[in-house]
Amino acid sequence: MGENPNLVTIDPNGDMLIKLKYRSTAQSKWKNESESVEDWIAQAEAAKAVIENETARPEQKPAEVHYLVSSRQLRIVSPYFEKMFKRNYDETVPNSEDGLYHVRAQQWNPHALAIMLNIAHLQFAAIPKELSVRLFVALFLVADYYQMEDALRLFTKEWQEQLQEQPMPTLYSEESMLWMFLGVKLKEGEIFESMASLAMREACHPIQFLDLPFPRGEKGVGQLDSMRCKAIQALLAGTHKLNQDLYEGNAGCNDACSAMMLGFLQRSLWDTKLLSHIEKHDQHPFEGLSFDVIYRGINNVVYDQSYGIIIQAGCCQIRDLLYPICEKAEAHFELDFSSF
Ligand SMILES: [Zn+2]
Repeated sequence: MGENPNLVTIDPNGDMLIKLKYRSTAQSKWKNESESVEDWIAQAEAAKAVIENETARPEQKPAEVHYLVSSRQLRIVSPYFEKMFKRNYDETVPNSEDGLYHVRAQQWNPHALAIMLNIAHLQFAAIPKELSVRLFVALFLVADYYQMEDALRLFTKEWQEQLQEQPMPTLYSEESMLWMFLGVKLKEGEIFESMASLAMREACHPIQFLDLPFPRGEKGVGQLDSMRCKAIQALLAGTHKLNQDLYEGNAGCNDACSAMMLGFLQRSLWDTKLLSHIEKHDQHPFEGLSFDVIYRGINNVVYDQSYGIIIQAGCCQIRDLLYPICEKAEAHFELDFSSF
């Protein structure tokens, strides 16, 4: 029964078989950024049901590829394999039928694993000249797990140059997060900062790191989520405070002036459905709300006022009162790449 797994010969004189099982239709971890919390939860549940269904149907067998490699070579390049042999795991007893060491592997991209193993064996001719962004990321995932990143880095220069020539994503998406991951791994500050900025400004929910092995914690990408929340809070709280000041006549040069600015602000916040949000300016993690949506809504007020009315010389412009709020909020996005 069953088909024979594909055999990829990395080293013809190899003494080890790496047996990879993987699903070619792996479920993407990305959830569409919906502004509705209910949609978001429904998507997460649908994705979970698909994964549970897959495991519940044994007839949908995963594909299998075997790689013939040299255990000695892998022990030199990878502390992971060195440790395996030092500690005499089951894998370090040769198989009774073929005399090879058998090591199981799961879930890796099969091309990425082949490239990484070719790098470990210095099989230069088998290492591709060009890589897609997705495959580049998959390669780092394999290298991260098997602790072969030092070896991988000897070969990344050319692929890194190709990456720099490609247009960067312009929207927060699964693709932009893959780029951000490469930005961190390749120490490309500009790529990292652009992609991190997209995520912080456009995410309507906690940022989706796709389970990629980013550096976490205080000195890692975990801080992007709190920066997003602080910036949103600063925009909402600042606008809320301005609203109060206009109500109480503490902003504007006289009563007519504050009443007019208050009217523009309220109507615009109503139009952009932000009026209720500024009341709840401390409700982290701001599900269903992105910084950019609020930012555009607030800047819409400026547009309305200068568009529809004769502005008296010397009187206040609401733009001048909103500008410092926006500026203060955006200051939360300042990144120090050296801390990642
Ligand atoms: Zn005025």
